[in-house]
Amino acid sequence: MIRTIIEPFRIKVVQPLRFTTREEREDLLRRAHYNPFYLHAGDVLIDLLTDSGTSAMSNEQWAGMMRGDESYAGSESFFRFEAEVKDLTGFRHVIPTHQGRAAERILFSLLGGKGMTTIANTHFDTTRANVEQSGARCVDCPSPESRRLTEAAPFKGNLDLDAVEREIANAGERKVEAIIVTVTNNSGGGQPVSLANLRAVRQVCDRHGIPLVLDACRFAENAWFIRDREPGQEGRTLREIAQEMFRLADISTFSAKKDGLVNMGGFLAMNDDALAARARSVLILTEGFPTYGGLAGRDLEAIAVGLREVVRDEYMAYRIASVRYLCHGLKERGAPVIEPPGGHAAYVDAKATLPHIPKEFLAGQALVNALYLAGGVRAVEIGTVMFGAAAQHELVRLAMPRRVYTQSHVDYVLEVFADLLAERDRVPGYRITWEPPYLRHFTAHFEPVR
Ligand SMILES: *Cc1c(COP(=O)(O)O)cnc(C)c1O
Repeated sequence: MIRTIIEPFRIKVVQPLRFTTREEREDLLRRAHYNPFYLHAGDVLIDLLTDSGTSAMSNEQWAGMMRGDESYAGSESFFRFEAEVKDLTGFRHVIPTHQGRAAERILFSLLGGKGMTTIANTHFDTTRANVEQSGARCVDCPSPESRRLTEAAPFKGNLDLDAVEREIANAGERKVEAIIVTVTNNSGGGQPVSLANLRAVRQVCDRHGIPLVLDACRFAENAWFIRDREPGQEGRTLREIAQEMFRLADISTFSAKKDGLVNMGGFLAMNDDALAARARSVLILTEGFPTYGGLAGRDLEAIAVGLREVVRDEYMAYRIASVRYLCHGLKERGAPVIEPPGGHAAYVDAKATLPHIPKEFLAGQALVNALYLAGGVRAVEIGTVMFGAAAQHELVRLAMPRRVYTQSHVDYVLEVFADLLAERDRVPGYRITWEPPYLRHFTAHFEPVR
């Protein structure tokens, strides 16, 4: 008999939720300029804005917080963190940073520069911003199947290797500063990259003398999909697969706010001694001394414990099942979702959900706002508001924080979604009334268009 996959923990600290009425939410959303980023989190019932930094820590991680050694230099907590990261990744140099983008900022300020190019399956937005800040340019080479939103394929996060070779030829191999493999591919729906693809990218990098950078934020979720879907991988532990993924790379940037199971932290790791020395010099300038890098000793302890917990089978079985449950539930209720479910979120096609809203009236923002009004659920637009005219799709992402919500919370979200679909014709479009010069989705103001 197949048993229910249960939450593999029991709860010993709780944070009460605050319930609001629809009238209250209408007022709150109007006062937030119809942009849920301005809402106070206390006015949100189920917060699916992001899976980043929103994890619940375990009792062992909290015990690590007490153990944290806050010495300025040579903290015991750093050495525990370093040993754990080295064992997992195999890298000789481990540089702690306060979050993923700090690692990106340091790395791409050293590798990058005018006239250079980085190639990736898809650059995450902070990765792109840091590469472009250095004067280099970004080229995305996602697999062809990633463009077919509702068609299932096992490894939609793969790089298109023919496209990669073309881009290397275009730029000239000496002008390609790195090939970045993002696991899982966050901007491409949280879809995994296969070990076969990663190995093939390794060969491309070797042939051309280009460093391979693993943007490893969701390495453990990716390892699960490899074991589940890739021939020959079924007998291995998640940790062994993750260890191989890291060892195929020359450098890794990591946001511990995802698969580190903590609320803040990250690292930059590599084998190149000279590059590491330069990275540590920048680190001292911008983050802190190399044995804390912008983090408290207790944060380093919590990451060290989290990196062990995240590759446990019971944890990841639950994690993947909870995202799949959300995606399947949405689909059953008639929502057009990206297939197959990724590792950390459900992505809903807002254009197909609200076909009466023309492109200029921002179907994604409309769906996000309708979800909040219908039930206090906060999601995020990934479409024209976020990417402007370059947006390929109008998506809404419902991201699952790790170990935070139970199955009945998800059932509630599904009911809210069903209510919304029943009166979708009445959902208004939106227009922007004010926007900042960069990253407008965070702070733009909107108004409904009836
Ligand atoms: C979150 C994320 C980053 C940046 O990490 P932060 O900790 O938010 O700075 C980089 N790449 C990917 C794929 C991410 O998901």
